[in-house]
Amino acid sequence: MSQWQPDSWRSKPILQQPVYEDLQQLQDAEKRLSSYPPIVFAAEARQLFSQLADVSQGKGFLLQGGDCAESFDEFNAPKIRDTFKVLLQMAVVLTYAGKCPVTKVARMAGQYAKPRSGDFETIDGVSLPSYRGDIINSFEFTEAARKPDPNRMVEAYHRASSTLNLLRAFAQGGLADLHEVNRWNMAFVENNPLKDRYQTMANNLHDALEFMSVVGINSDNHAAIRETHLFTSHEALLLNYEQALTRCDTMTGDWYNCSAHMLWIGERTRQLDHAHVEFFRGINNPIGVKVGPTMQEDELIQLIDALNPDNLPGRLTLITRMGADNLADNLPRLLRRVKAEGRHVVWSSDPMHGNTFKASSGYKTRNFDAILREIQQFFQVHKAEGTHAGGIHLEMTGQHVTECTGGAYKISDADLAECYQTQCDPRLNADQVLEMAFLVADHLKA
Ligand code: PEP
Ligand code: MN
Repeated sequence: MSQWQPDSWRSKPILQQPVYEDLQQLQDAEKRLSSYPPIVFAAEARQLFSQLADVSQGKGFLLQGGDCAESFDEFNAPKIRDTFKVLLQMAVVLTYAGKCPVTKVARMAGQYAKPRSGDFETIDGVSLPSYRGDIINSFEFTEAARKPDPNRMVEAYHRASSTLNLLRAFAQGGLADLHEVNRWNMAFVENNPLKDRYQTMANNLHDALEFMSVVGINSDNHAAIRETHLFTSHEALLLNYEQALTRCDTMTGDWYNCSAHMLWIGERTRQLDHAHVEFFRGINNPIGVKVGPTMQEDELIQLIDALNPDNLPGRLTLITRMGADNLADNLPRLLRRVKAEGRHVVWSSDPMHGNTFKASSGYKTRNFDAILREIQQFFQVHKAEGTHAGGIHLEMTGQHVTECTGGAYKISDADLAECYQTQCDPRLNADQVLEMAFLVADHLKA
């Protein structure tokens, strides 16, 4: 294999990229980004790597979630705070139920580039370039807005860095205190229509914390109660941006993509001989790859070997997104093969992307029960094959949107119009996603 360089992807075929008109502007933006400080520090990425190594060996669980696409307009503290809070609430429920550490990875601080099913979008006979995420163009349906603008990469950098700044402050400044998180969970359960279903677990968790307090383990003397760690991740789709933030770590001499702790390759850009696999093979972060129902066993082994030739535990997370109706036919054959070949991976379930459909009201949506069914089957299949169901990967928000149907509040097709805010895929709202955590907890206990 030829020598890897941060720009060696440029000689390979590449899909899902914008066509920039002004190449000078593009180069200027890349140059500016290359001179900016990294957003994350390589040693943090190594810390996540080692936590994921534990997960791959059955000693932990990965919770990954956030917006399908972060938006430049919806860039504010309450939004960041609410997603942070709900991720923590879920993590507490899962940690308690699973009796194992939960590694929290947000789809935040850089989740700005989107693969699309077509290059153009047509509305009322007018055809314009597709929206590709705020790092590339704007959602508004006008010619000017849809034109790819390289300066958006620089804007994305600034938003990502201040998002991460706030997340770090929340994680260490008191908002993440376990007692606080527990209070939010008690309030959630108290108000939920399915209260009886979740009450026992919420009470048990509350009692555990009370007990610890009584014996002297509290926020004042234990950082583990007072603080948390939240890592960041996004789909590294726009490689111009990713390359500009890829740096040689002075401590180890290794290359890291310092735009986030963890990066993943999407289902549509994971071709073995293409640019994304080339770029990813050379960065030393923990990485993920989406795995859909068409993935073949041989292809998967080749992909694993290209991305993790030394078979390092923690390096590679396979994020399966099969669809509730396809999982049982496709996941077992992949699990068997990877296990038989002794490859170390984290298996995580994205129950969102295989369960999207158009509601009768015209909105793109997902149903709570289908999402839950995919997760339940994911656990069942892993149990049957003797492999570890290592995590879940959700599109979610801390806001009270109406984008996915179902859940305790029974959001219907007709309700979708009420608060449908996503610029891309439909997300579970704060209540739905916490409910999901309580239901997943039942499987972790089993
Ligand atoms: C996504 O995670 O938003 C996404 C586009 O997923 P996939 O690559 O699995 O389609
Ligand atoms: Mn999505």
